[in-house]
Amino acid sequence: MTDAREELVARLRSQGITDERVLSAVARVPRERFVDPDHEARAYDDTALAIGRGQTISSPWIVAASITALGQGRDARVLEIGTGSGYAAAVLAECVGEVVTVERDAVLADDARALLRDLSPDVRVLTGDGVTAAAGFAPFDGIVVTAMAYRQIPPELIEQLTPGGTLVCPVGDDRQGTLIRYRDGETTDLAPVSFVPLVRGTEG
Ligand code: SAH
Repeated sequence: MTDAREELVARLRSQGITDERVLSAVARVPRERFVDPDHEARAYDDTALAIGRGQTISSPWIVAASITALGQGRDARVLEIGTGSGYAAAVLAECVGEVVTVERDAVLADDARALLRDLSPDVRVLTGDGVTAAAGFAPFDGIVVTAMAYRQIPPELIEQLTPGGTLVCPVGDDRQGTLIRYRDGETTDLAPVSFVPLVRGTEG
């Protein structure tokens, strides 16, 4: 698995990921622990994989690209929305000072919380609608959303940023959309992406 992880890092480098902190974080986090046992052989493929509950663990490239775009260091407090398997939160925790992550599906949240307690004990996992559930922990230097926001960045999230803070969020009409970075009132389109939808509220 260590060899597979090193190959993944080399592949990410060739795909344009150059931030050494992010690459060494990917090199340290055992992605095989975050995928279903059925998919373990594919844990280091550059692809999203099913994690149950109709959700997916994002591809390593999208995790690395989102965290690179966030551009936060060891003194930063970061909110992740869409804990899913917990993999991106674990990579993030290797790069920044503090991570709060929110998952709306209680089953996924409980599983991720148990795994992260073992692998990244400083990560705080909340259950709820990530757009509002972590407001009590705001402001954040960075916010990364790992589910597709419908047509716009939720304004409630911009309110949870520190002045000059950065938000990275996929925005689209359905599962296809654009990864967008927001900072100081300006947005930049980063890449075309595919994500599961950001679902508001905690029911259903
Ligand atoms: N970052 C994850 C990938 C998550 S997939 C990983 O590394 O594995 C997106 C996740 O967002 C799903 O688990 C989905 O349940 C969750 N989600 C969707 N809408 C949400 C919301 N409003 N608040 C919190 N989580 C949400």
